[in-house]
Formats: sequence, structure tokens, C-alpha cells
Amino acid sequence: MELVCASSAADGCAAVDVPGGALWEEVLEWGIRRHGMAPASWTDYLRLTVGGTLSNGGISGQTFRHGPQTANVLELEVVTGNGERVVCSTAARPDLFFAALGGLGQFGVITRARIPLLPAPRMAKWIRVVYDRFEEYSGDAESLVTLPEPDAFDYVEGFAFVNSADSVNGWPSVPLSAELPFDPAIIPAGSGPVLYCLEVALHFNQHERDTIDQRACAMLRPLRYIRGLEFVVEVTYVDFLSRVKRAEDAARANGTWAAPHPWLNLLVASSAIVDFDRNVFKRILKDGIGGPMLVYPLLRSKWDPRTSVALPESEIFYLVALLRFSRRLCSEGGAAAELVAQNREIVECCRSNGYDFKLYLPHYQSEADWARHFGRDWPRFVERKARYDPLGILAPGQKLFSRSRPPPPLDL
Ligand SMILES: Cc1cc2nc3c(=O)[nH]c(=O)nc-3n(C[C@H](O)[C@H](O)[C@H](O)COP(=O)(O)OP(=O)(O)OC[C@H]3O[C@@H](n4cnc5c(N)ncnc54)[C@H](O)[C@@H]3O)c2cc1C
Repeated sequence: MELVCASSAADGCAAVDVPGGALWEEVLEWGIRRHGMAPASWTDYLRLTVGGTLSNGGISGQTFRHGPQTANVLELEVVTGNGERVVCSTAARPDLFFAALGGLGQFGVITRARIPLLPAPRMAKWIRVVYDRFEEYSGDAESLVTLPEPDAFDYVEGFAFVNSADSVNGWPSVPLSAELPFDPAIIPAGSGPVLYCLEVALHFNQHERDTIDQRACAMLRPLRYIRGLEFVVEVTYVDFLSRVKRAEDAARANGTWAAPHPWLNLLVASSAIVDFDRNVFKRILKDGIGGPMLVYPLLRSKWDPRTSVALPESEIFYLVALLRFSRRLCSEGGAAAELVAQNREIVECCRSNGYDFKLYLPHYQSEADWARHFGRDWPRFVERKARYDPLGILAPGQKLFSRSRPPPPLDL
């Protein structure tokens, strides 16, 4: 990895040139250790490659503010299906630059990315608060992601969980430390089968130490969460960004990491999210999924429409990530099929209710489904494929395009 001076970088001139196969955790480690700097936009899990997440989107709790990872890249080196090695950006070969971002690997292999860097904070105040009413949860989450930047949290996510003592799906999944237990007696009588946890963070440095608590309190005050169900810890910025690594270590130890993970990731318009909660969280998933059920808002205006990513139409839409970790799957072969069927039921529920939604990390079996997924941008996607990978060499497993027959050999 190499630090470069990039005049178009957001904050002065720092950026890093990263090989496409580097892991985000390597970028974090390198940036902090060598320069005290880091990218602004992350995924929750950092053992993913830079080229891989840029080919999809790259979403986490910073996305509402800084945009997805596809909005935080200055330049790419791409090897197209034509075998051409191209350095592209918004200024040079922009069509290939935007095609490759969110392009599911269909137009080229990203071999290098130039990622802007910002001075990294030292610490994060990491906070979870609990709601029993979805309308209040989503209303507060939406107000937080639309606050002007100086008043905003640095990170906003959230998840649904089961209103029970279940150790994986229920109350114990909320506290951030063993010293802060969850007291179920505080949950209002008559609460439903599912509760909601808003998760936010504020970054700070040593000189802000004295004022950070006051700032956090002032920001939490207008929120309508259940008083007494708030959980706050302070961790280093690196530990905060590495939080899923700890979950991975635990999952590796108990065997669930190696089991199949029939995950489902959706982007659901704000206009449909209350109905989605009623039909999906409160009905289909009321007993949980053996892992996190993320649901938090993002802003369409932070995504560049020239990239290949397909999004719902509305300005505010939610990431819904059903991150199933099931121990049953290790021993019972049929269980994975059941969960895949449940995922299909959820997608069908979105379709039949006419929700404005898209799959994130999409996979479909037919060209008709892909055409529906990309909607009015499908002709652009097809045209980009014809330009950059006319023989259909790249990522054929996604069943987006069938592989064309190569042209006949030249008759010399
Ligand atoms: C445990 C886990 C946690 C995740 N957490 C998040 C998250 O928090 N936020 C989020 O947004 N996503 C998340 N994802 C999804 C992730 O963004 C995609 O799976 C992404 O493809 C991962 O990159 P990879 O290196 O693992 O890709 P691989 O799984 O190796 O590749 C998947 C596909 O991506 C494309 N691809 C990969 N590398 C390149 C490249 N260099 N150039 C062009 N195309 C390429 C290809 O089409 C390939 O088929 C998670 C995935 C996992 C497995």
C-alpha cells in the first residue's frame, strides 16, 4: 500500500493506493499505524476485500453520512473482460469507473483502488438504546440520519431483536458489556414480540474527553427510547471498527462460522418499512434468526446514480440484513433449505405488497429477474457489458449473462 497525494481527495491531499485483493482490516491497520489516518466509510466486517466491496456497495453505519464505499474512491485500476488494463476515475474513462463500482465484477477485475483518507479519531463512544414501538424507532433513526453534519452522530445503525430471554435472539444480544445487564422489568407492559435497538457512535480525541458525555447526552435527549434501557461503552476507534472480528472469533469457536449462512440483504424504501416490520419482523421472523436482524436508514443522495448499484426510488431507504447464524445447520442438513425458503417468502412478501425494494448483494437465476432488479438502468448495464466484456468471461456464476461463443480463429 502506498500513500499518495491526490488533489481531488476530500480532505486536502491524503489517499492510499490499495491492491484490489487487500482486506479492509489491512487498510485500517496500515493507515492508523503509519499515518494516523483512515478511510471514512466502512463495512461492518473488515475481512472483506477492497475490490469485492467496491463491486457491491460497501455499507455500514457511516454510509448515511459519507456514502457507501463506492462513493469514497478516487481512482480505480480495472482489467476489463477485453484484457485491457485501464486507470479510470470521474475524470478519466468515467464510464468504466462508474460501471465497475457496484458492477458485481461484470465489467472488469478491480486490481487497485485509490481511497481517500481522513485523520483517524482515537476513541469512540458506542451507545445502544432500546425501543418497543417501531414507528418511534424508525422516526428517530430517520431524524438522526438527516441531521446537519455538525450535529450528527458519526455512526448510526440498528437492529430488531426478540422480546425474550433467548441468549442469541433476545435481550442478552443488546448490552455492550457484561457489566451493563439488560433489565427486562423496564420493558413496558403490552410490548410486542419484537423490540428494536438503535446503535450510534460518536468519535472523539483526548482533548474532547471532558465534553463528550455532555454531547452524547444532549444528542440522546430528544430520542423516544425506553429510559433505563441505554448501554454505553468507550472503546478505541480501531476496536470499534473491529467489533465483528470478536463475533467471528466466537462463531469460529462454537462452529457456526463454518456452517452455511443463508443471509438475505434488502434495501427497503422508507414508505414501506412500517408495513415490512408488521409483515416480516413481527410475523415471519418473530422468533429471530439466530443472528442479527439489522434495520437502519440510508440516504439515496449519498449514492452516485452513475454507479451500477440498483437502489429503491425513495430518498430514505433501509438496509435490512438478516445475518443468520444457526447452530442447527451444522447437524441438520434440511435446515438450510428451510431458511432459504423463508428468505424467498420474505422477498415474495415485498413483491406482493408492492414495496419499493431491491436486493443488496443480489443473486438471481434468470435474465428476466436481473432486468427487473436493474429496472430502467438495465439497458445501461447490458450496454456496459457489451463494451467491457463482450464474450461474457467475467463472473459467469451470477447468471447475469450467458457466455458468448468466441469469434472464429483468424484465417491467416
Ligand atoms: C462475513 C461477511 C460480512 C459482510 N459484511 C458486509 C457489510 O458489513 N457491508 C457490506 O456492504 N457488505 C458486507 N458483506 C458483503 C460483501 O460486501 C460482499 O460479499 C463482497 O463481495 C465481499 O468481498 P469479497 O472479497 O469477500 O468477495 P468475494 O466473495 O471473493 O467475491 C464476490 C464477488 O464480488 C466480485 N468481486 C470480488 N472481488 C472483485 C474484484 N477485485 N474486482 C471485481 N469484482 C470483484 C465478483 O463478482 C465476485 O464473484 C459481508 C460479507 C460477508 C461474507
